[in-house]
Amino acid sequence: SPSRSSVIVIGAGVSGISTAKVLAEKGIEDLLILEASDRIGGRIRKESFGGVSVELGAGWIAGVGGKESNPVWELAAKSGIRTCFSDYSNARYNIYDHSSGKIFPSGIAADSYKKAVESAIKQLRIQEANLCSRDLSNVSEPPSAPETPIELAIDFILHDFEMAEVEPISTYVDFGEREFLVADERGYEHLLYKMAEEFLFTSGGKILDSRLKLNKLARRVVLGSHDKDTFIVIGSQSSDLMKCTILGQVVRELQHSRNGVTVITEDGSVYEADYVVLSVSIGVLQSDLISFYPPLPRWKTEAIHQCDVMVYTKIFLKFPYKFWPCGPGKEFFIYAHERRGYYTFWQHMENAYPGSNILVVTLTNGESKRVEAQPDGETLKEAMEVLRNMFGPNIPDATDILVPRWYNNRFQRGSYSNYPIITNDQNFHDIKAPVGRIFFTGEHTSERFSGYVHGGYLAGISTSKALLQDMEKDKERKSESQAFL
Ligand code: FAD
Repeated sequence: SPSRSSVIVIGAGVSGISTAKVLAEKGIEDLLILEASDRIGGRIRKESFGGVSVELGAGWIAGVGGKESNPVWELAAKSGIRTCFSDYSNARYNIYDHSSGKIFPSGIAADSYKKAVESAIKQLRIQEANLCSRDLSNVSEPPSAPETPIELAIDFILHDFEMAEVEPISTYVDFGEREFLVADERGYEHLLYKMAEEFLFTSGGKILDSRLKLNKLARRVVLGSHDKDTFIVIGSQSSDLMKCTILGQVVRELQHSRNGVTVITEDGSVYEADYVVLSVSIGVLQSDLISFYPPLPRWKTEAIHQCDVMVYTKIFLKFPYKFWPCGPGKEFFIYAHERRGYYTFWQHMENAYPGSNILVVTLTNGESKRVEAQPDGETLKEAMEVLRNMFGPNIPDATDILVPRWYNNRFQRGSYSNYPIITNDQNFHDIKAPVGRIFFTGEHTSERFSGYVHGGYLAGISTSKALLQDMEKDKERKSESQAFL
């Protein structure tokens, strides 16, 4: 008969690990963590590239230096992770005109920026009024849509990076406006290992606790398509199809009742638990990876499907030498093109890793999906053309490229939840609410900090507390009915 645990936590990203840690510390010894991939960390993930560790997922500790201390900043300090201060705000003074390769004069950039902020504020007020069915007569004229390459570039930066300029964002209000880039060979994920170490058995830098079940992925590049096994794209390297020998831990089915939850994995293994905490991303919840019996109620599925998923892709390019300006105020630069979001936002990695000769360009949503679907060689060609428009024809070719594929990863299906700034509280409440004995956690369940590592971390703490309360009530109910008998 299948083994039975008090709690099964599905997913070993930051929220799953923080949930399990609280539960273990509160005396829930017989818990199990099932993780579909072969590692902990989820969307916190480093990879070796060009001689250094680069972060394919979360890179920054956002919200530092304010009235309250960001718990992830505290964890970083405790684990001794190396970080460096990032200042996006200079990017607006390094906007390259795609047709001339020249930087726009600061006056023009500042004016365009001001206009874009005003327009975004107007847009927000209209949304707010629509949501509350309020009178719109005080909005004199509709906001103007961005048209020129510089306007399009600023609009992109504002909406996908700097919304704090338009509306207060809880992360910056609570924890401060500074952001630090993790630049440590052990990766951002080291912070998670340190957390896991406090409640799971580890030795020699490895977690050896049988309560954490990772998938043992047999990673090898498939050369042909004649193999009969299941193929899934999990890698971040070019268009390689990685072959995955399915060994379990990929949860495919949850059967739940008043008495408990049965968890069935891809290889047919069955686990029983009193409770399940589901920490998979909102993108996975929207996909058909996990089936529920009985199905989730309509209020739940509707809330899940109403939440937007942002795709955010950092493409890394390695060069034989650097040809871009360095020094104060030059870390970030912008490419203004006729197509919105086309290789717009650039960063050099000289502050993080001096001499690494690496550039990072960030794409989002439609552009992310487009490059995920094409061979990396094509993406490299596009990026080089953009760089030559900015820095001239004589720059060297990149010697390597790394294109993460968060959208096509069936254990992620996107980068993070994206609630509108003016959001419907009920929708948010429904995403978070448990269904019987299935509890939900993850960054998308953090009311104030969704989308961030600290959101995932704090969501894990909050879900585990709610679960412990429910367990307590359950115990009381059982002892009352026994007394009655
Ligand atoms: P996850 O990390 O996704 O954990 C869920 C786990 O569940 C995963 O390990 C997954 O493999 C597993 N899983 C999925 N399906 C199954 C299944 N069926 N069975 C078993 N296991 C399953 N945040 C910041 O604070 N700063 C940043 O700079 C930042 N940048 C980002 C950049 C990118 C490109 C991305 C992708 C994210 C970024 N984030 C950033 C967001 C941050 O990474 C996330 O908010 C956070 O890591 C989410 O943690 P989580 O535990 O909620 O989810």
